[in-house]
Amino acid sequence: MVVKDTELSYLRRCVELAAEALEAGDEPFGSVLVSAGGEILAEDHNRVASGDRTRHPEFELARWAAAHMTPEERATATVYTSGEHCPMCAAAHAWVGLGRIVYVASSEQLADWLSQLGVSAPPVRTLPVNEVAPGVVVEGPVPEFTERVRRLHHRFHRR
Ligand SMILES: [Zn+2]
Repeated sequence: MVVKDTELSYLRRCVELAAEALEAGDEPFGSVLVSAGGEILAEDHNRVASGDRTRHPEFELARWAAAHMTPEERATATVYTSGEHCPMCAAAHAWVGLGRIVYVASSEQLADWLSQLGVSAPPVRTLPVNEVAPGVVVEGPVPEFTERVRRLHHRFHRR
């Protein structure tokens, strides 16, 4: 695990955003986009309760990056996220040329949690980011926060 201590604050913010999503009736996912210099440029949480199931935070951040950052800035930025990118978001991340991804919980962990809760499988296959975007540097899971994220998903599906 090569996540530095200074990066834990970004992951903590992702978990806060995931909790905000839960409070708003959305699935608990949150993500932040951080520049090479360590500045938080943009952040978002899941917004699928609107009825649009593509409103994942990682997808929104990829679009924000395409609109506001140069290719060089995107390549050296990092996206921190409470849950590993789904295939749609991994593709968007790679298409806009963003850099590293650091996630708290892996897609595999999430799939295990949801299956334990009896949640039916999603319409899109669960795949590791590198199956979709082989060139992206990906780090996680980050055990300091996984239990917190697991509890948020448990609360969402037990409402
Ligand atoms: Zn996604």
